[in-house]
Amino acid sequence: MIGITILGSTGSIGVSTLDVLAQQKGRFQVVALTANTQVERLFQQCRAVLPEFAVMVDADAAQQLEQKIKQAGLITQVRQGLAGLIEVASLAQTDYVMAAIVGGAGLLPTLAAAEAGKRVLLANKEALVMSGQLFMDAVHKNGAELLPIDSEHNAIFQSLPGNYSDGLATIGVRKILLTGSGGPFRNTPLDELNRVTPDQACAHPNWSMGRKISVDSATMMNKGLELIEACWLFDTSPDNIEIVVHPQSIIHSMVEYVDGSVLAQMGMPDMRTPIAHALAWPQRMSSGVTRLDFFSDVKLEFEKPDHDRFPCLRLAEEAIRTGGTMPAILNAANEVAVQAFLEQQLAFTAIATLVEKVMRTVNAQEADSLDVILEEDARARDVARKLLLAG
Ligand code: NAD
Ligand code: MG
Repeated sequence: MIGITILGSTGSIGVSTLDVLAQQKGRFQVVALTANTQVERLFQQCRAVLPEFAVMVDADAAQQLEQKIKQAGLITQVRQGLAGLIEVASLAQTDYVMAAIVGGAGLLPTLAAAEAGKRVLLANKEALVMSGQLFMDAVHKNGAELLPIDSEHNAIFQSLPGNYSDGLATIGVRKILLTGSGGPFRNTPLDELNRVTPDQACAHPNWSMGRKISVDSATMMNKGLELIEACWLFDTSPDNIEIVVHPQSIIHSMVEYVDGSVLAQMGMPDMRTPIAHALAWPQRMSSGVTRLDFFSDVKLEFEKPDHDRFPCLRLAEEAIRTGGTMPAILNAANEVAVQAFLEQQLAFTAIATLVEKVMRTVNAQEADSLDVILEEDARARDVARKLLLAG
């Protein structure tokens, strides 16, 4: 049996992962589940899959969970805090770690999984955006396997040959075509964007996801973060990546080769496909995803991204080109801005403005240690909060 830890099991990706695992009885053993504050949801998951460990980040929530688990007579041991997350990401009995915590909070546990040489199923793109080189070095040094869960990167991975780490030029890749739906506001009149609500921003036309990534999809910061993610995963630069708006989300990304071939990975927009792919790789297994029906579902349209509508694209590209800690600064500012938007303290269009101001205020450093990255992350959050207060 393959032991698996799911970091962020109560979230959208976590729940989809448990759904895929439930269809594969006898093949995987869930070793640990983790959540931030959702006691009841984590308790129900513990009842269903009987993990050895459950981690609640919040201390009060951990106590409540422990009580429930005792009352129910379950064997699960409860841990708490960041230390608990790191412990369950590194356990000897864990072979695979699904990294599905949202935001920078996922960095240390995800890095711990890489350092422990696990197969890391990476959904938590923010961790890689923040720590880029450091994270990739940890993967390589410790013999970890890094498999992308983000649907675009999973599609790119599937469209590349196994020896892609020899270098994209060596294997004849001309360009990576990173697709994105354009989100819910692709056609909204520009002068209405400053009034859109969190619920409108979270109503993604094709994907059902957590609220933070949904807002990122609406600003297209998600595609910007994915551009940075792709640079690290496939060891390339933004020069070799083109963003293509594809509103139907049937093609999940493509790779163009020098001979004119373009390989695409297609499917219904359902995260259980990349999750099952990464769990089974290099084999395949069923995921429960509805088949793509070419006679009704498949409409393939493409557009160039609109940089006036989506300034976050330009900011993310600037961040990776600047390098060092600038992607961590961008990510930190964006997390604060998105949270403020979700709490109705910031207009939708002010998200990009705030991120840009933070990028102009905080100087990028060499991202050569975790301490520097974490310091710059904290500094950027601090500056973003002060700018918010100053209005
Ligand atoms: P979500 O908000 O639905 O779930 C987040 C999970 O992280 C929850 O289990 C929550 O308990 C946990 N969490 C939140 N804050 C935490 C903290 N401070 N410390 C520890 N745990 C914390 O998010 P999601 O949509 O499942 O996304 C998870 C990650 O996967 C994100 O990085 C996102 O960008 C990425 N991703 C998601 C999708 C998707 O379809 N949902 C697709 C591609 C990539
Ligand atoms: Mg994606």
